[in-house]
Amino acid sequence: MEKTLRGVGVSHGVAIGQVRHMGTAVLEPPAHQIPTEDAPRERARAKQAVDAVAADLIARGTLAGGEAQAVLEAQALMAQDPELLADVERRITVGSSAERAVYDAFAAYRALLAAAGEYLAGRVADLDDVRNRIVARLLGVPMPGVPDSDEPYVLFARDLAPADTALLDPTLVLGFVTEEGGPTSHSAILARALGVPAVVALPNATDVAEGVVVAVDGSSGEVLLDPSTEKQDELRRLAAERKAALSASSGPGRTSDGHLVPLLANVGGPADVAAALEAGAEGVGLFRTEFLFLDDSKRAPSEQAQVEAYRKVLEAFPEGRVVVRVLDAGADKPLEFLTPADEPNPALGVRGLRTLLEHPEVLRTQLRALAAAAEGLPVHLEVMAPMVADRADAKAFAEACREAGLQAKYGAMVEIPSAALRARAILEEVEFLSLGTNDLAQYTFAADRQVGALARLQDPWQPALLDLIAAAAGAAKAAGRSCGVCGEAAADPLLACVLTGLGVTSLSMGSASIPYVRASLATYTLAQCQRAAEAARAADSAEEARIAAQQVLSGE
Ligand code: PEP
Ligand code: MG
Repeated sequence: MEKTLRGVGVSHGVAIGQVRHMGTAVLEPPAHQIPTEDAPRERARAKQAVDAVAADLIARGTLAGGEAQAVLEAQALMAQDPELLADVERRITVGSSAERAVYDAFAAYRALLAAAGEYLAGRVADLDDVRNRIVARLLGVPMPGVPDSDEPYVLFARDLAPADTALLDPTLVLGFVTEEGGPTSHSAILARALGVPAVVALPNATDVAEGVVVAVDGSSGEVLLDPSTEKQDELRRLAAERKAALSASSGPGRTSDGHLVPLLANVGGPADVAAALEAGAEGVGLFRTEFLFLDDSKRAPSEQAQVEAYRKVLEAFPEGRVVVRVLDAGADKPLEFLTPADEPNPALGVRGLRTLLEHPEVLRTQLRALAAAAEGLPVHLEVMAPMVADRADAKAFAEACREAGLQAKYGAMVEIPSAALRARAILEEVEFLSLGTNDLAQYTFAADRQVGALARLQDPWQPALLDLIAAAAGAAKAAGRSCGVCGEAAADPLLACVLTGLGVTSLSMGSASIPYVRASLATYTLAQCQRAAEAARAADSAEEARIAAQQVLSGE
């Protein structure tokens, strides 16, 4: 029976495939007593699960190779640690079920490790992962983390953290559906980076059973369960037609009367470059360097590894502009070796530039690696800092860039309302601005971008957000500086016109959105975009702003 669910579409296109779930954190198994005669069976189950998990970790390691292999093999050894196993068996003998015994034995070992100092404490997360895997196997629930599958699938999850998604195989993921996450969440960003359709903020998405065939429309936000073959064919045909029409649009971003608005790509590393080039990106407007750090949250990648990754991206855009954002760790992108574990409110804590100013060696290494990577290349390198709050932040970043002898423009991201309001002062210290509208919306509306229920407040059409964008863009214009948008707002084809009307000078987005934005921008004059921007700012809600802009642009 066909049934339609509705969430918020955040990445265009249609995906049709079977549902696979992202395994969630393992539940605590019940602590009831088992009869003594069941003990031998439970011991056998525990041993079987431990061996299967160890074998699986070794197999994954062989597949992954490199550093990941060493980590996975160490985890396999943890799983089969003889003392741990002896403790599990002891607990079963006195009446625990296999899953409860594993859960408790690992908890005891975990406490020992955590108390044992930094190096061992760093292994606690790996130990938890091993425990979750064994308990999940015993309970017969999906393994935590990315599903194991040889077949392409549509990934359903409560939410996706960057650390989870770093392990996704992009050739297997047809699309995403999440319960949480607004239009600016990392699930949405990742979907756009992979160019796969996605729907977020879909209530009870994780109740949809594994294996059900779904059709996900990343534009309308509709998710069709069990679509008929005719419906599937029709959706595929429509999506192909749309794609063909869009790929016919090419060339630099411009309004119909020739006002240039460079269309740049948001990338997470060298793997995203091919899609950016294919979409005709005129450069990179946001290189999220933290993705290079997510493979191993315990230490920074070596300077040489950074040089190599940066160089691959810079080489892809000879003569083009590449804006690299220095590490934005913290909040939804925590790194064990940098982010305090006990912050009461991480989004308002030490993150972004604040982290780097507390760990200047990490910033220095990154700037040095960027200088080395750009050496001898004709690229226009620009470097910017995340989460700049005020002029003092901008000054500290500019000084770090100068001290590193970096031949690049340096700029500030405007992600905090204070920075938009005082953009003029910030531009006394740095050479350009880039609006991170995802965080700017989060902090303007006090609405956590990870919380799907607050999607209304994270809507980038909110007139208050447009006011802040106008303030920053106006200050940049007066100072003769550029002010781009690299938040997800830039990927909305209609809003892109409004942003242009507000005075934004470039738009950077996930590559898959570039053709849509290019086609939309080419339809209207700059004056129409300016009128649409005025109408949107005069509205009282995001919905009204969208309608008002649409009316102006369609000449109603
Ligand atoms: C933003 O906040 O808009 C932004 C571009 O940064 P990120 O989404 O990586 O936080
Ligand atoms: Mg941000």
